[in-house]
Amino acid sequence: MTATLSVESHQPVDISGLLSAPPRLLIGGEMIEPRSGRSFDIVNPATGKVVGHAAAGGADDADQAVKAAVRAFAWGAPWRRMSALDRGRIMGRLARLLEEHADELAEIEMIDGGWLRDAAKNVEIDLSIKHLDYFAGWPSKIEGNTIPTAIPDTIVRTEREPVGVVAQIVPWNYPLLMAMWKVAPALAAGCTIILKPAENTPLVALRLGQLALEAGLPAGVLNILTGFGGEAGEALVDHPLVDKVAFTGSTRVGTHIAARIAGQVKRLTLELGGKSPNIVFADSPVEVAAQGAANAIFFNAGQACSAGSRLYIERKNFDEIIARLSEIAAGMKVGPGNDPTSKVGPLISTNQLERVRGYVQDAQENGATVVTGGSDAVDGVDPHGYFIRPTVLVDVDDSMAAVREEIFGPVVVGQPFDSLEEIASRANDTPYGLAAGIWTNDITRANRLASMIRAGSVYINMYGATDAAVPFGGFKQSGYGRDMGHANLESYLETKSIWTGLTPESPVLTPEANI
Ligand code: NAP
Ligand code: MG
Repeated sequence: MTATLSVESHQPVDISGLLSAPPRLLIGGEMIEPRSGRSFDIVNPATGKVVGHAAAGGADDADQAVKAAVRAFAWGAPWRRMSALDRGRIMGRLARLLEEHADELAEIEMIDGGWLRDAAKNVEIDLSIKHLDYFAGWPSKIEGNTIPTAIPDTIVRTEREPVGVVAQIVPWNYPLLMAMWKVAPALAAGCTIILKPAENTPLVALRLGQLALEAGLPAGVLNILTGFGGEAGEALVDHPLVDKVAFTGSTRVGTHIAARIAGQVKRLTLELGGKSPNIVFADSPVEVAAQGAANAIFFNAGQACSAGSRLYIERKNFDEIIARLSEIAAGMKVGPGNDPTSKVGPLISTNQLERVRGYVQDAQENGATVVTGGSDAVDGVDPHGYFIRPTVLVDVDDSMAAVREEIFGPVVVGQPFDSLEEIASRANDTPYGLAAGIWTNDITRANRLASMIRAGSVYINMYGATDAAVPFGGFKQSGYGRDMGHANLESYLETKSIWTGLTPESPVLTPEANI
């Protein structure tokens, strides 16, 4: 999800009012006290300090939020009566409001989510706005068909209808964008929503919900239920009035949700983890490949589902590219998001920091060499922040956890390879299938390998771009369903076939012939 565009620099905004606000849920168009009566800490990852409190929605709150979404979806409710064009217009107004509030939203992402301020604005917020703009054009283009049948004197047409009430459960790594990947197509389809942001990043979702009301979205169409996954999230997954669950997060939680849903016949889409191979052939210019490899793993401190975390380099260039990549990594300043010279911000939480350190230490204990970075504390930053240096590991083998498991931090494992067949097989030797990168000037080889790799996105001589119009999602244990593009819109729509008899003799079928 790296982006190459740039908008003008970010202006710091005072969000202290937002941080000191009492913990509230956004349900039915109102900021309300949680029935659970509980809240949890909002923590700034760059300092480890508690900066505010968010409401911990419980099962009762989830029930209230679902019922608000059900009411907003009822036949005759404003959202259902609204023309498709007007639905798109409201989405467009929301996109403009997000633009107006881009500095504020970036500030929230920095303080709540540990983002670098400029990256938050230029990537997180910018891509979220583009996503909304893309889907704002869709409502008026959702059409059914007229179908010629073998039955005389009948007309059959299909209508595309919203799937209904959707629970959307999202992670913390791109707090606004991950929400927008789901909220925008659901609104375009005409669904109503309960959005459950990650407990690590509750704030931006609440702001999104408030701005949506300001844009004219009817009350209850977008409800924000902050809280814990095991509590608020599960209550949504289990709720009988929820028609669809859209989840982005870890494969562990995704499998758990799929199992819970199995007996309920709810619709479910899963966008899960990855351990994506990034493959560099020797004909790729060293500087291009090394920069590409660095961006693929170190952007957002490696906290990207499609991060290029397994780097494979054709043997004859292995040493040179690892040396250059390590030089780039060592030159990336680790620091807080409010320092414009920082290139790698903090990880999201102390748990995540310990996990990532654990992978590095385990690899070292099993014989890996740390070329740069490592698990030691970082100098020159707040010691209570969750910082780790960009890390390059070599002398690794496929049995190591660091090679096989998603680390979700700025840690890349580098390995040499010798042939195309070998690398295709090693690239696919993972339970995941989210993304892959191929760096070569040989277009035939690039496309052959792209066909051989089992992953939802393959990048040739680039890495990690996303665009609202392009489907994104996983093969294998990286999930099912697609975010983005009209493939995603489909997952928020049902198809209804409507039959009309044209003569008094219709229907031509006898009751016995009914299916
Ligand atoms: P996570 O632990 O799976 O959590 C994701 C969301 O699920 C959070 O809102 C979480 O709430 C909630 N949750 C946790 N347990 C739940 C349960 N039992 N029932 C219902 N909801 C539950 O993932 P994460 O650590 O936040 O995010 C990192 C993961 O997301 C990585 O694996 C990454 O690859 C994946 N990801 C995938 C994509 C993609 O498009 N494929 C994009 C981005 C990230 P809490 O916050 O309270 O735990
Ligand atoms: Mg936070």
